Amino acid sequence: MTHDSKPSEFAQIDGLSGSAGFAVGQAFVVDTGRLGVVHRKISLDKAQSEVERYRKAVDEARQELQALAEQVRESSGSSAAGVEASILDAYILMVGDQTLLKDVERGIRDDLHGAEWALESAVAEMCATLRESKNHYLAERSHDFEFVRDRILRCLTGQKKGLVLPTSGEPVILVAHDLSPAETAALNKRMVLGLICEVGTRTSHTAILARALEIPAVVGAHGALEKIANGEQLVLDGVHGKVIVEPSAERLRELQPQAERYYALARGLRERRDEPAVLADGLPIQLQSNIELILEAELAKEQGAQGIGLYRTEFLYIDRQSPPSEEEQYEAYRQVVEAMAPLPVTLRTFDIGGDKFVSTIKMPQDMNPALGLRAVRLGLSQPELFKTQLRAMIRASAHGSIKIMVPMVSSLSELRAVRALLAEAVLEVDRHGHAHAEHIALGCMIEIPSAAILAEEFAREADFLSIGTNDLVQYTLAVDRTSRELARLASYFDPAVIRLIKQVIQAGKFRKRDVSVCGTMASDPLAAILLVGMGLRSLSMEASALPEVKAALKRVSRADAEDAADTAFEATTAQELEQGIAQRFAPLLADILDPE
Ligand code: PEP
Ligand code: MG
Repeated sequence: MTHDSKPSEFAQIDGLSGSAGFAVGQAFVVDTGRLGVVHRKISLDKAQSEVERYRKAVDEARQELQALAEQVRESSGSSAAGVEASILDAYILMVGDQTLLKDVERGIRDDLHGAEWALESAVAEMCATLRESKNHYLAERSHDFEFVRDRILRCLTGQKKGLVLPTSGEPVILVAHDLSPAETAALNKRMVLGLICEVGTRTSHTAILARALEIPAVVGAHGALEKIANGEQLVLDGVHGKVIVEPSAERLRELQPQAERYYALARGLRERRDEPAVLADGLPIQLQSNIELILEAELAKEQGAQGIGLYRTEFLYIDRQSPPSEEEQYEAYRQVVEAMAPLPVTLRTFDIGGDKFVSTIKMPQDMNPALGLRAVRLGLSQPELFKTQLRAMIRASAHGSIKIMVPMVSSLSELRAVRALLAEAVLEVDRHGHAHAEHIALGCMIEIPSAAILAEEFAREADFLSIGTNDLVQYTLAVDRTSRELARLASYFDPAVIRLIKQVIQAGKFRKRDVSVCGTMASDPLAAILLVGMGLRSLSMEASALPEVKAALKRVSRADAEDAADTAFEATTAQELEQGIAQRFAPLLADILDPE
């Protein structure tokens, strides 16, 4: 990584809005080769001690690998174990590689780079040379050097995994290539003013979590690591998805009123949170909140949520040594249910896999994780893990109104299998003498096209349906939801997606089942109007979007929304459809859609 291209004038990076809000502060650059390499400059008098720190880490990494190799040899006499041990032996040699050692020392002494940075640069150069060689064997060795780099980095930073964040001093704006949902969930608003990621979109889980934590974020900010150096001053505009590096005083003065107007609007909308959610003609619309963390239940209530339409429980499973016990989960669900009572809470069974990985659960290395062992598929393949969660949910029903919702259902047989496991789990809860509600509604998410196509059958067997537009868009249009490059293709206004949604709404009406939308689409005021016009009466979204969606719906009558939906159905492309809706309603919502 170089900063040579950084201009002396301020630079602007255009990304996507991940989480609305503004932040001004110093950059804290973490290059997460999943290990959080901080690009730290050192002073000349620290060079020697930095070299010693590096050598110590190399010794430690070597000892760890030696112990591991011995363990492998002792544990099994198989030939596979022999091969593994000899690979480890090769790594032991690479850790102490003299060329690598010299390159790192040069980086520390000449460039005054911290040991982590020097190691990262040395390995990057080495790997680039290896990959350039036409020799396939040599090119492959680059991965081995990267593995070795990570082992040394772990020893250098003292962290066995994860991201190291500042714990004291001024709060910072974090700049990273990407953060995992676990890393994002661990961010602390006191220390992190904002977040900039090179990858991701508004519907990637990192952005969803940033919004939940109310940390302004710009995602899909290509080249951020190239253009931003540690300690530089940044303005992060999470409303428009822009980052300004080293802004001039004049530029800062210009931005100030923009930020103030944004926060004034947010405050004004929040103050009207207790007003009922109705259309202009008084038709009530249920507005609920999505949450990922227990503490968000309070936030949802503050924003006027009429319940939790989606609790993403998988966040209880991440960043830990073993999966949460039944007792721990019961406590979490009880807290949320009690915080919301008497309002209903929809507990979604874990949606692990895809872009949400959990280190404690062994997962196959699928080529396409989004199409692999994810969510209900994982639950059904590990019934004990799944039933532990179901029992905790059933027990939480003694404390308020809950529903259970299953993600990523692609066939009715999965829903039936979950129903059977739920019945078993109820018996187990009874056997232990725990109280629970007599009936617990079991619904499913409609987020895979096959389920949308069979919506009527699903509506017959499920107690309720909730449309997950983030995944429905991903799977219908074959667009990775985390891809910045393809973000413009991933539109919930696409006619194919809209038709599937319409089909699900109609199926619910026909079978007299509640249908809701809990994907990011629900939090877009224009899309919310379209959905209501299509017959939807319940929406669930991140808490921060509730006030503006409520304000938008209040300005539109049912007849208007229905007429707009009818016209939208004639559109043949996402752009046409979106433009039609925007032309009709954007002037009416100008202050909400763009508070400038
Ligand atoms: C969705 O897919 O729209 C959804 C709400 O679930 P998640 O974003 O957690 O996949
Ligand atoms: Mg989903």
